[in-house]
Amino acid sequence: MLVNQKYEIFPTEKQKETLDRWLQYCRQTYNSALLDKERKYKQNRENYNRYDMQKQLTLDKRKYPFLKEMPSQPLQEVFVRLQKAFENFFRKNARYPKRKKYKEYTSMTFPQFGFNKKGNRMAMSFSSNGKLYNTRLGEIDILLHRPLEGIIKQLIVKRQGNRWYAIFCVEGQAPPTTLDIHNAIGIDVGINKYAVLSNGLEYENPRFLRKKEKQLKKTQRRLSKKKKGSANYFKQVQRVRQLHEKVGNQRRDFLHKLSYNLTKEYSVIAVENLNIRNMVRNRKLAKSISDAGWGMFRNMLTYKCERNGGVLIKVDPKFTSQDCSSCTNLVKKSLSIRTHICTKCGMILDRDHNASRNILQKALDELLTITE
Ligand SMILES: [Zn+2]
Repeated sequence: MLVNQKYEIFPTEKQKETLDRWLQYCRQTYNSALLDKERKYKQNRENYNRYDMQKQLTLDKRKYPFLKEMPSQPLQEVFVRLQKAFENFFRKNARYPKRKKYKEYTSMTFPQFGFNKKGNRMAMSFSSNGKLYNTRLGEIDILLHRPLEGIIKQLIVKRQGNRWYAIFCVEGQAPPTTLDIHNAIGIDVGINKYAVLSNGLEYENPRFLRKKEKQLKKTQRRLSKKKKGSANYFKQVQRVRQLHEKVGNQRRDFLHKLSYNLTKEYSVIAVENLNIRNMVRNRKLAKSISDAGWGMFRNMLTYKCERNGGVLIKVDPKFTSQDCSSCTNLVKKSLSIRTHICTKCGMILDRDHNASRNILQKALDELLTITE
């Protein structure tokens, strides 16, 4: 099992400058590799891959010696990212890869950490003082607010606003032993209701959000009618901006409260592992899903679960709404059918309630195979 563990690091101003510069090198390398790839394809349908990019990088380093200022691994890892971006695009999980702007390129990956088999330091490791260490940067303060256990597979250094973080990808972390699997809940995030739990509890969609969003649309429409550049135009821009922020804040607030209550109450929480993008593409569902901030909610659940010693399990969403949660009989139904009626065992349940029970069952099956 691979787990990401995130810790804040505190580089000095000078270290920040260096890290930021390295990020720029990564970003430029990413962008120019993307351009090269496009050019090669246009010219002679050439499939310019990761290894070609690496060769080009070697040449670039001769031409632009400043590229040698940073460790080579994170620079090469850029091509892995680009390759993934294309793979996601071809699998229709993402848009066509774009050139990255400053704000969009915020992290670099060190694919190895610590010491190699011969005992040599890798580009990033811990110093004897327990700080993050790189020969060029020196020691960087890190706040290990919780123990870092297991084998570190890689390190991502990330800039978020003015703060910097170290994200360790760690292998071999056993599930927490204090986990109470009897205190488990499945959650179905729905369209009509925000969330339905496997014990039947329901959480309504926040209406106030709907209302505010309607308001937002209205102000946006008004803005489009104003003369660009006029004083009224700028006033309206201000209004839209403020409302936008308000809606965002309210949504976040609602989700924080809900995720807080759920993670406090339950130690195992099961949700569907949905491909958000695919759902958002479905126009009918789009409004309510993006509304619901489902991705944000799931992130909150993840870290809050962890903080409380619980665990969030994401299960395969296949058939969760079709299967009978009582006898596993498959009951096909379209999205408009809101009630699950099993023709085999006779169980009648709200559609989302039935789904959340299936989600829970799948998670427990998974958990039991891990702990056995
Ligand atoms: Zn049944």
